[in-house]
Amino acid sequence: MMTPNHPQWVEFMNKLAGPGYCDFQRGPEGPTWMCNGTTFAEAILADMGFAESAISDNLEFFAEHGGFCDCEIVFNVESSFHNAQNGDGCAEDNDDEVEEADS
Ligand SMILES: [Zn+2]
Repeated sequence: MMTPNHPQWVEFMNKLAGPGYCDFQRGPEGPTWMCNGTTFAEAILADMGFAESAISDNLEFFAEHGGFCDCEIVFNVESSFHNAQNGDGCAEDNDDEVEEADS
């Protein structure tokens, strides 16, 4: 299962946010990216050798942490996961909202 505790999590995030997948770019009118359901995340996990059943479990895990599509996996899963792990200890990090960039 690919979670923020997995040794390849950073690699997974970098791939998902990078060229060929979501491809986050700082455009003139703010950030732009591609998102196509969870197809990018599924493709990367398959590349990393995860079995199909593990991938569908993983997509459920992402959804539980606010990652219902590829870009939301990048935005939400890690902070949601850490907030869940920290329980009530870490209220100040508790921002689930993704702020719009200033235009
Ligand atoms: Zn998305």
